[in-house]
Amino acid sequence: MRLLLVEDDQELASGIAADLRHAGFAVDTADNGIDAEYLGREEIYDAVILDLGLPGRPGLEVLAAWRKDGLSVPVLILTARDSWTDRVYGLKAGADDYLGKPFHIEELLARVQALLRRSTGRASAELTIGGLRLDEERQRVQRPDGVEVALTGTEFRLLRYMMNHPDRVLSKSRLTEHVYEGDQDPDSNVLEVYVRRLRDKLGREYIETLRGQGYRFRGSS
Ligand code: CA
Repeated sequence: MRLLLVEDDQELASGIAADLRHAGFAVDTADNGIDAEYLGREEIYDAVILDLGLPGRPGLEVLAAWRKDGLSVPVLILTARDSWTDRVYGLKAGADDYLGKPFHIEELLARVQALLRRSTGRASAELTIGGLRLDEERQRVQRPDGVEVALTGTEFRLLRYMMNHPDRVLSKSRLTEHVYEGDQDPDSNVLEVYVRRLRDKLGREYIETLRGQGYRFRGSS
């Protein structure tokens, strides 16, 4: 899962980004409204965390511009704790959730995870599919035989994305975009290595190779 974090307070931004990465997300950051608007249009994100008070272009305008162009990415806005008008205008401009500053990082993480669940049509906090159970907090997966397997950060991000999009053709470029961050430059051979590692850990039956198209995670067998 790849997130865009837009926050001009550098200290706050680097703290949030570190916590999000620790929780297994790939994170791109922007510290002004102009870069944010550009990145939101050019890159594919699973969710955006958007501060409203930004240099360059206010967060509300950025959000409204994205929505006007039909961008449906889930957006959580960061507002001043006492400003109910920010929250109302934010929701009207197309935000999916909001959080007042200052906030606890645990609440931000929980809200982002809830947004992602809703956007992928999941009701439960636990990701169980095809007999695999993914523990998102501990970044481990339990196989149908009861064995629990630890995953590296990249393996976890890749498997989570696949489990959230079962029985669909996932191109290598799409997987790469959701698993890596903007400043990394992976080639598709690297993705093949991670798929092979997941197969070694989980068994071969889950990830199907579709020649020339990419991969498919089999949610039902
Ligand atoms: Ca700000």
